Amino acid sequence: MNSSSRVAVVGTLNLDQVVHVERLPADGETVLGLSQTERPGGKGANQAAAAAAITSTSLIAAVGDDAAGTTMLEYQRAQGVDVEHVRRVTGLSGRAVIEVDADGTNRIIVLSGANAELTADHVTASLDALDPEVVLTQLESPREVTDAAARWCRAHLRRFVLNPSPVAALDDSILALADPLVVNEIEAAYYGTADDLEPLAQRLRSRCTSAVITLGAEGVLVIDDGRVTRINVRGVTAVDTTGAGDVFAGTLVAHLAAGIELPEAASLAADTATDFVSRSRN
Ligand code: ADP
Repeated sequence: MNSSSRVAVVGTLNLDQVVHVERLPADGETVLGLSQTERPGGKGANQAAAAAAITSTSLIAAVGDDAAGTTMLEYQRAQGVDVEHVRRVTGLSGRAVIEVDADGTNRIIVLSGANAELTADHVTASLDALDPEVVLTQLESPREVTDAAARWCRAHLRRFVLNPSPVAALDDSILALADPLVVNEIEAAYYGTADDLEPLAQRLRSRCTSAVITLGAEGVLVIDDGRVTRINVRGVTAVDTTGAGDVFAGTLVAHLAAGIELPEAASLAADTATDFVSRSRN
């Protein structure tokens, strides 16, 4: 099918079950839920869908042979994502159980399911077949998967973009390849503690090729070629900020794959993410 996508996203697919409650139960307590919705999620899936809105994008991932797997594959296809390299494995697909109370406070349990079956061999073979310009990955998949994506990019001189979420310790050699490392403020602090944003940006720069720090309503910091560029975003009324970072990362890599320089690509991605948070998704 699509053998030459510009962007490959290596990551997870989860079916998110969102349960709304008045208040979250205490330990051992049962509460009645108000409503529930099911929607396709997972960082890999969300980022691939955002990239596919702009350029040819393939998702390298794994789903189970259950109904959830079928639903998620159909959804990705409908978003224009090439799913030729999504492995179908025996067993359950990944799921997230998300409880949200009346104030919007949430608790999330992720069950990796088939996502844990994604292997370095599958990632390497898929990247060989696709030969993308840019590879984007996160840390929801097994670590061997992140390492395989980074190694493939180094060997083939392709751009490696890393969104280290959920945040975790990484080998310096992997961090150094990130071009850029895409982090929110909390993740940035994990990789380079500092009192203020500018010194934090400089610290990140010393550890990776380039970095982008997203700051919610405060915009974005781009650290590239020794320059720190501040990008402001439009003031909007945020309706739902869930997944804003994924929309940002997916849109960013799509623009990078088209040859747009990092600061401009980050500015375009911030615009798209800001539009996204101002829209309701119910
Ligand atoms: P994450 O979802 O990973 O925590 P951020 O909250 O930093 O990431 O959001 C990513 C991007 O989404 C921001 O750089 C910005 O463009 C947009 N965004 C998020 N929250 C807001 C907001 N309240 N107002 C305007 N834009 C926002």
